[in-house]
Amino acid sequence: MIVVMKPGAIPQQIEHVKERIEQLDLRWHVIEGTERTVVAALGEKRDGAKQSLELCEGVEKVVAILAPYKMASTEVKREPTVVQALDLKVGGGHIGVIAGPCSVESRDQILEIAHLVKQMGGKALRGGAFKPRTSPYSFQGLKEKGLQFLAEARAQTGLAVVTEVMAPEQVELVSAYADVLQVGARNMQNYPLLEAVGASGLAVLLKRGASATMEEFLLAAEYILKTGNTKVMLCERGIRTFEDHTRFTLPLASVPYLHQTTHLPVVVDPSHGTGKASLVAPMARAAIAAGADGLIIEIHPNPEKALSDGFQALTPGAFRQMMTECRKIAAVMGMHMGQD
Ligand code: PEP
Ligand code: MN
Repeated sequence: MIVVMKPGAIPQQIEHVKERIEQLDLRWHVIEGTERTVVAALGEKRDGAKQSLELCEGVEKVVAILAPYKMASTEVKREPTVVQALDLKVGGGHIGVIAGPCSVESRDQILEIAHLVKQMGGKALRGGAFKPRTSPYSFQGLKEKGLQFLAEARAQTGLAVVTEVMAPEQVELVSAYADVLQVGARNMQNYPLLEAVGASGLAVLLKRGASATMEEFLLAAEYILKTGNTKVMLCERGIRTFEDHTRFTLPLASVPYLHQTTHLPVVVDPSHGTGKASLVAPMARAAIAAGADGLIIEIHPNPEKALSDGFQALTPGAFRQMMTECRKIAAVMGMHMGQD
């Protein structure tokens, strides 16, 4: 349920509603809007709870939340959530660009790419140190050494570090270096991991599972939100279909759909979404036109030599061109894309 307070409700009245919610064995979550405050009451439905809350002073109405994802839903919060980590701002009219290699391969590689990303207007550096690889014989990442190189790149450029964490027991280590924890597609329904990244308090980039429905995706986000961590970015990275002209199928309708159903910002990953470097920039442009709040792009100075996903990496020149084109589309859409 959501308890909608009257526009002039005073803090004591909100406190009282919170106490009443606790007495009803429910959990509260306060959302301060620009015009009024709403208090979400979460938990098992209780007989008489709605009527009891309606009687509290300062309450305008109590309404049921129909969506199964309570805290992610626009029913609870209509204003878009803006997620910020250092200079990366995603949501509410800000388009944040996250770019970098698929994997951190060496100190020189990540420092070189970090400077390129910075020069070209990206606000965050991506790079996997713990890599989820389909084959156990493929490069698995530099692990803590990779995290140290990422932190050095942040120190040199000021870019926020976005990097994947694959297991709950890695959260503490990765959090010591990252600004944004990435939960990969293969882990979207790893519930202990979702709770652990939530508890870290860091911003989280949650990737859609390759066969997850929108409802499953939003319920995964709900696991993070339920810990009290509201800094969640959703990432559409493509789904598995019968199509084989691309690595995955990138369904851009999920961007406006998510904007209708959730206040959380939506980032698009056209690199994994297409798996082909030549298709990345057109789909990045389309993502911005569809209203995406951010992009995550794989780039590499020498894609042929990349240790993972070289086939979908943009060269620095192609990335520069993509940024120029995307900025034009962002301007038409009335969005800021990292130059302010
Ligand atoms: C990645 O971003 O490098 C990655 C492994 O992505 P996904 O989890 O979407 O496959
Ligand atoms: Mn990759």
